[in-house]
Amino acid sequence: MNEKKIRRRLTRITVLVVVTVAVLLAAASIISASLERVLSDTMEEQIKSETEEYKINIIRKMDADMQTLQTLASFFEFSTDTMSYENFSKGVYKANEHNGFSRMGYFLKDGTGIRVMKNQNIDLNVKVSKLSQEFQKIIEKAWAGESGVSRIYYDQDLDMKIIAYAVPVYNEGEVVGVLGASTDIQVFEEILNNSTALYGKGYAHLVGDDGKFLIRSERNVIQEEAETIYDGSYLPDEEKNRIRSCMSSGKSAFSYFTYEGMNYRIYLEPLNINNWYILSVDTTSERSGSLYTILLVTRVTLYAVLALAAFLLIYGYCLFKQNTSRLIKIAYHDPCTGAYNSVRFMEEANAALEVSRSYAGIEMNIRQFKFINEIFGRAQANRLLVHVKDVLEEKLGEGEFFGRDSADRFLILMRGTDREEVECRLLEIMNSVGDFSKLKRLNYRIRLYCGAAFADTMEEIPELSPSQTLFLHTSFALNTAREGHQNNVWFYNTAVHENEIMQNYVETHMEQALHDGEFKLYLQPKKNLHTGNIASAEALVRWQRADGTMIFPNQFIPIFEQNGFCVPLDLYMLEQVFRQIRLWMDTGVRPIPISVNQSKLLFYEEDYMKNLDLLIEKYEIPPQYVTLEILEGLALENVDELNRKLSLIRSKGFRVSMDDFGSGYSSFNTLGKLQIDELKLDRAFLMELSHGDPKRQKIIMEQIVEMAKRLNISTVVEGVETAENEELISELGCDYGQGYLYSRPVSAGEFSEKYIMS
Ligand code: C2E
Ligand code: MG
Ligand code: MG
Repeated sequence: MNEKKIRRRLTRITVLVVVTVAVLLAAASIISASLERVLSDTMEEQIKSETEEYKINIIRKMDADMQTLQTLASFFEFSTDTMSYENFSKGVYKANEHNGFSRMGYFLKDGTGIRVMKNQNIDLNVKVSKLSQEFQKIIEKAWAGESGVSRIYYDQDLDMKIIAYAVPVYNEGEVVGVLGASTDIQVFEEILNNSTALYGKGYAHLVGDDGKFLIRSERNVIQEEAETIYDGSYLPDEEKNRIRSCMSSGKSAFSYFTYEGMNYRIYLEPLNINNWYILSVDTTSERSGSLYTILLVTRVTLYAVLALAAFLLIYGYCLFKQNTSRLIKIAYHDPCTGAYNSVRFMEEANAALEVSRSYAGIEMNIRQFKFINEIFGRAQANRLLVHVKDVLEEKLGEGEFFGRDSADRFLILMRGTDREEVECRLLEIMNSVGDFSKLKRLNYRIRLYCGAAFADTMEEIPELSPSQTLFLHTSFALNTAREGHQNNVWFYNTAVHENEIMQNYVETHMEQALHDGEFKLYLQPKKNLHTGNIASAEALVRWQRADGTMIFPNQFIPIFEQNGFCVPLDLYMLEQVFRQIRLWMDTGVRPIPISVNQSKLLFYEEDYMKNLDLLIEKYEIPPQYVTLEILEGLALENVDELNRKLSLIRSKGFRVSMDDFGSGYSSFNTLGKLQIDELKLDRAFLMELSHGDPKRQKIIMEQIVEMAKRLNISTVVEGVETAENEELISELGCDYGQGYLYSRPVSAGEFSEKYIMS
């Protein structure tokens, strides 16, 4: 996963965390609001039912008063004409002694009447017109046959606030008088002050529909005097309006007022008498009461749980983000300089190269960095690396970037396709890096070298990404740049470096190729120049890659001779040759001898003889079918030692041939000493014949063939390409010819078909 993907994932997680926290908060708010609504509903229900209670109690009291008065009125109905007015007055007086009225009266149509009070004389000369307005109003109504309750008013005689009742007294269906009574409003006050309501936290007022207080509970939280509920600024304006409109249409209303920072819930319920309203106040407000406590506990718990969940979520997220950022830093940055590491650099380079190819890839190294490390110490060397980073940061422009791979290896992607321009910029960078010596007062000149390659002219390598190809090229160029001593830049050159690419491929793939059987046995025939028959063949290796392409021996044998891989390869080829001869024998055809090239390293292998024996044993073929081709270079070292080995090999039955004779430091002297069966004259002889001095060359060849004959060594001439070549070597008395004139090396299968089976 690359950094962009990780960052995209991180963004997704961030969104998820934010959404989750938002959902948690929303859930908390919804639950809290629901709880509050439930609580509010419950409290509203409660205050409503408590108000109902007040209402019932007040109405019950009034009903009881009215009933008392009406009962008396019905008694009087039958006695008004039989009883004298005086007796009647006494009757009223007596009745008043046994009920709770403060005063009673009886009034006649002529506007006169009597009034009685407990423990006082009967007032027989009462004039209705002198009575209070409020009382007169209900007396008036009673004459019309309607019982009534007065408004609350202050009675001067009684020195108290009272309510008056009036009921008609009938005689034979006609209103003949009005029975009136008044009662102290104290009983209503008691009802309204009832401290058991709302768990002792409530009280109620009696108000008119104009908001005027009729009976103001003494438990009122608002201490200030007020005429109406609208006085003062306790009720918010909008609530005042709402209450007004509800009361004008006789509806009940929930509301609240604020006093000394506390909110109080109120409820207004019409009493249905004189447009009076009961105004209940819940002093529990929202901050007390068991329900509130439950709500508070639930809310606190809920918020605590949610806050904890949100905290854990955010904390976990922060940890995750921090870790991811750290991992990204570790995974994509070089810890020493903070620059991109090679992974990140290559990703960025690939992305840039996908968009444009107008880039130069550069690999920059510090000369003698190992020495700087050892002499000036790691810390100073690290400072130098940071200095390189600073210089690169300063000198690179928009869209250009760099990374540090390892040690002193910096990778740069620079815009441009012009060689001179890039070289100039790089020299400037290298000079600036060199200033480190001056800055740190080091008595050592820092020099660098760069390998550069251009992406626009780069030929892609199928299995590599563009950046990998580009920086493979830069490393080839860097290898060449390394040779110098000054600040220098070397540009990748296809022709020069193709070889290196091949070398790189050969070295990295050889073992797998041997394991996968990619090394194939090819055979090239040798013609017996005396008989004209194909007498034998030479085994030549071909590396056939899985994709069908072929690699030729000159591309890998020199490398294998360097790295020692020719030992396992030659052994493998030797076995292929044994197997081929065995195959021919098994098929019932007469095999022909095959010569097989033996590298110097194999020849001096400790187990060489043992391996030869094992092969003879395994394939059971006469060893004379196998000729071992050795190179003349072997004879340069220790001829005696070589001869000892050769005689051992020959004693086993193998034939020995000296390959490429004449290509190196050939000496007739050595040839004379060597115990070989065959001498192969290098194809350089035939080439010299056509290019150089033919006469001279012919004489030399003649001498070699002559000498070989005398030593009983047969001769093979390589590189016979034309009929003239063949004619010439035949004339010289050579025994065998090998070359394209007869056949190019062909696969073992093709060779068998062509020369053995036919
Ligand atoms: P060599 O052993 O001298 O093999 C002869 C080379 O000359 C072969 O090249 C062959 O294809 C080439 N040749 C043959 N006739 C002509 C001709 O008429 N004209 C020209 N121009 N070339 C001709 P090849 O197969 O490419 O092998 C090159 C060399 O690689 C061989 O030279 C040998 O030294 C080495 N080699 C090949 N196979 C093996 C092997 O299995 N083991 C070792 N150690 N070396 C091998
Ligand atoms: Mg050979
Ligand atoms: Mg040869």
